[in-house]
Amino acid sequence: METARGKVIRSWSAQGGASAPRIVGGHGCHFQDAEGRSYLDFSSQMVNANLGHSCASVQDAVREQVGAGATLGRPWDLAVVHELADRLAEVTPGDLNTMFFAGSGAEANEAAIRLARARTGRSKVIARYRSYHGSSAGALSVTGDPRRWHGEPGVPGVVRMLDPYTYRCPAGHPSPCPVCSGGPHLEELLQYEGPENVAAVIVEPVTGSSGVVVPPDGYLRSLRETCDRHGIMLIFDEVMTGFGRTGTWFACDRWDVVPDILTCAKGLTAGYVPLAATAVSDRLTDWLADSVFPYGLTYSGHPVACAAAVAALDVYRRDGLIERAAALGPVIESHLRRLADRHPSIGDIRGSGCFWGLELVRDRTSREPLVPFNPDATAAEPMRRFSAAAFGAGLYVLTNGNVALIAPPLIISDAELEEGMAVLDKALSVAD
Ligand code: PLP
Repeated sequence: METARGKVIRSWSAQGGASAPRIVGGHGCHFQDAEGRSYLDFSSQMVNANLGHSCASVQDAVREQVGAGATLGRPWDLAVVHELADRLAEVTPGDLNTMFFAGSGAEANEAAIRLARARTGRSKVIARYRSYHGSSAGALSVTGDPRRWHGEPGVPGVVRMLDPYTYRCPAGHPSPCPVCSGGPHLEELLQYEGPENVAAVIVEPVTGSSGVVVPPDGYLRSLRETCDRHGIMLIFDEVMTGFGRTGTWFACDRWDVVPDILTCAKGLTAGYVPLAATAVSDRLTDWLADSVFPYGLTYSGHPVACAAAVAALDVYRRDGLIERAAALGPVIESHLRRLADRHPSIGDIRGSGCFWGLELVRDRTSREPLVPFNPDATAAEPMRRFSAAAFGAGLYVLTNGNVALIAPPLIISDAELEEGMAVLDKALSVAD
């Protein structure tokens, strides 16, 4: 588009192309574009709209807080910030009882990394290859996939670790494999890096956009034990997996492993306004009480966002949505397994609750990926065609690499699930 000043505007929203739809509203699990077309949201937008697109309780809370004064106060003076901190501590695992608030998942991870470095006096951070932790310089630096960096050289001190990606485990999991076991692989890295130099290990307990990688039982505990042995802070990034997404409040609850620091965002307000939290353990809080840790953002706990989060936490509980997500897990899985009977392009199905990944392949036996690792536009084509076919038929599915994220709002009905699976069935033919 050319403006009166002769400037050519290429707004980032144009990245879907000039023909990309302009979304104007939503209701329940559907959203609508400016042409009046309706789409069933099978990925909760960016896996954040856990409560769908018209949750009256959250909308009312936002309106009320705007009416009460959206610009009031410094975060630490605000009643609603304290209320949210207390309410969030009721659902976070173990003793993660102190909250730092921020505006995005990336910022929450920045705070986690800074805190771990400050606490330990060490500089290195170990992160996994298949990971996404955000787009700011620090969060991107711990993100292991170079396809996300786009020229960012990265902040110093980041060391990479392999993933418990059992579908493509080089050692042929479930035979004992140091990588899929967690601790043994980490121990080996530490021999070379020097544990006395390592501040933190940061992982997504269930990897999100880099492929919905679910670790084997025992993996997170093994990381926990290794970190404890060496005084290393364990950070769980639950930005995508928090708030019932995987069928428990937090993904790590499934294995009963508590990190030193947990970050969350997305489902915290269910996407109605931006908010993130860095939850830290009582032990770290005690240390903070005796230390100087200058940290603060103008919007560390914006009142409107905090009011939305308090309301969202109420809705999760009132409507039993964590339990609902857990119950939907086997239902979604059996739908996906039926699709796999019909579509040879489905190589692997993994997930739980309302969080599933469909990994698409060229060949199910050899597991040759549908899209090779460094996709040029042509190579990425089959995946793009698949999501375009779904979207054209009224189903929104987020994809990354070879994986389609089936992550509907936790409020999805059985009928809507069936409706979406029928469209998915047709769209998958494009990839077969
Ligand atoms: N961490 C994880 C696991 C994520 O999935 C994301 C975003 O998708 C982020 C961090 C970054 O969050 P934000 O986009 O709010 O900065």
